[in-house]
Amino acid sequence: MSGKTIFSFLPRAAAEYLYPARCVCCRKSKPKGKPTSEYILLDDPDADLRQVFCDSCAEDFKKSCDTVCRRCGRRAYACECAPDALRAAGIRRAFACFTYEKGHRDSAASQFIYSLKGTENRDSVNFAAHLLSKRIAISGVFGGAPTDVVLTFAPRGAKNIRKYGGDHMKAITELTAKYCGCAFADAFANIARGEQKKRGLYEREHSASESIMLKDGAALTGKNVIILDDIITSGATLGACVTLAHDAGAAQIAVFALAKTGRHSPRNVDAGGGGEK
Ligand SMILES: [Zn+2]
Ligand SMILES: [Zn+2]
Repeated sequence: MSGKTIFSFLPRAAAEYLYPARCVCCRKSKPKGKPTSEYILLDDPDADLRQVFCDSCAEDFKKSCDTVCRRCGRRAYACECAPDALRAAGIRRAFACFTYEKGHRDSAASQFIYSLKGTENRDSVNFAAHLLSKRIAISGVFGGAPTDVVLTFAPRGAKNIRKYGGDHMKAITELTAKYCGCAFADAFANIARGEQKKRGLYEREHSASESIMLKDGAALTGKNVIILDDIITSGATLGACVTLAHDAGAAQIAVFALAKTGRHSPRNVDAGGGGEK
């Protein structure tokens, strides 16, 4: 065995040992399928979720993809409804891949979102990037054949970055840009001190515009900008990013998330803070 072979083999063997393939939701059971970069989901009836999920998580995750939007009646991966905060920022279509129900912490979808927060969960990050790149591809944003597209992301606050050792959306967005063949930009900073989820909806909307800032050197001028987030709840943080990108001279702007909460219809937004009951 040549030195070169050993040195290319060892890191992979070590990675397999340290990070054996596990279900991207429960992180316990092994997924049933072979490890592959070709994860197929969304509207593909032949999708085999067992490539990345264990059997029970595959079953449960499918439910979160098939949830019907209460406003438009379409399934989660086809719904384009934008919450009010995004509409106020000029975004009429907001895209996501599945529904995230706050009250269901044990659901596969919730566990998947949680498993992303530790950015070292590379197979979860990889799967998220595949979901987003496919959602972007089938959305037809920017007239279907976009050029000069830059992918960026809504940033976590400093407290969460410290807590989880990084911003998982940065890792996911970098990989999504690679799969889409687009440029990547780390365009925004979040200087919020408190934890956003502890705030009420009203406070969130009014604090987001003050805590998100455009980073120096974020080259968005004249570009078609796609802003990614993990979950769209009120849309306040994404809305603040959209406004900043617009002010920076972005050509067109689109937003994509892994999930929307079940609260993105007006009657639910009116209900204010708190989980899904
Ligand atoms: Zn599982
Ligand atoms: Zn909808």
